[in-house]
Amino acid sequence: MEVSPGIFLLEVPIPNNSLGHLNAYLIEGKDGWLMIDTGWFTAESFSVLQTKLKEIGLSVTDVVTIIITHVHPDHFGLAGKIKQLSPRAELLMHSWESDMLESRYVKFSDLSDKISAMLHKHGVPSQDRNVLGSASMPALEYVTITFPDRILYGGEIISTGIFDLEIIWTPGHSPGHICLYEPQNKLLFSGDHILPHITPNISYHVQSGDNPLGDYLYSLHKLENLSVSQVLPAHEQIFIGLNERIKQITEHHDNRKTEILNVIGTKPHNAWEIASQLTWSVPGRTWEQFPPYQQRSAVMETISHMEYLRWGGKVQRIINNDGTISYQLIRT
Ligand SMILES: [Zn+2]
Repeated sequence: MEVSPGIFLLEVPIPNNSLGHLNAYLIEGKDGWLMIDTGWFTAESFSVLQTKLKEIGLSVTDVVTIIITHVHPDHFGLAGKIKQLSPRAELLMHSWESDMLESRYVKFSDLSDKISAMLHKHGVPSQDRNVLGSASMPALEYVTITFPDRILYGGEIISTGIFDLEIIWTPGHSPGHICLYEPQNKLLFSGDHILPHITPNISYHVQSGDNPLGDYLYSLHKLENLSVSQVLPAHEQIFIGLNERIKQITEHHDNRKTEILNVIGTKPHNAWEIASQLTWSVPGRTWEQFPPYQQRSAVMETISHMEYLRWGGKVQRIINNDGTISYQLIRT
């Protein structure tokens, strides 16, 4: 689908995932095309990508620049494959994302041990810990590992010779997440930072930094004064009304905050206890019936809220005698 002359949206399926597809964007350049995000590495995703390129008269070898909004498998997975087939293609990503590649996709056992230890501290029962610690491992098979040719920090203008794209650092969903802004058509390529319906998952993680939700809300409000005619997200569909959507997401987090403060009540709780009492949008399933991956991301999301509340002076963190962490309301 042509978004505007020289800018195309390619829907790449991501099988076995509730998001259904990833939106890769292709932007015309003087000496080849720039691609934002790729889809993950499965035969089906790659063959659809090739077919869609063909429909607009291109092939993988026409891609000379790949920019990854963040290194989650659905965005980054096919980058290695494209680079194998199009050797002149340069891969660009934010410094924070590049730093995580080895621990996520090469020497990953160390990271899953650290995640298990972190989950333990936050009250995850021991029988669930190892399962939950390695719950994102299946995603590894969806990635062909490759490393960036150029590192981004935010603020760069990447020019294709036809379009200029400004790199905007938007940490939160991932510490090195970036959005891209195209000023001629006022387009914002928003990655997973802002989606039209789904609220992106903001998880506390051993690599997230100490206040990922604070980072996220900061980078959400950073975009408020940008003149944007259309938002081009990495999932779901293109939409208009950026500020309205920013407002809705902010409200969602405010409501969550209220819900959490009610759950904590007067006694200290750990994140596992809090998470199990919150409402989650998994229809027809109780907390006990959640698959490990969902329990894990629910706990990590809860911790990100707790740390946000802690830095905001609403709760305090208690380190118990056994080393586990609880949170308690600060009475004002
Ligand atoms: Zn995604």
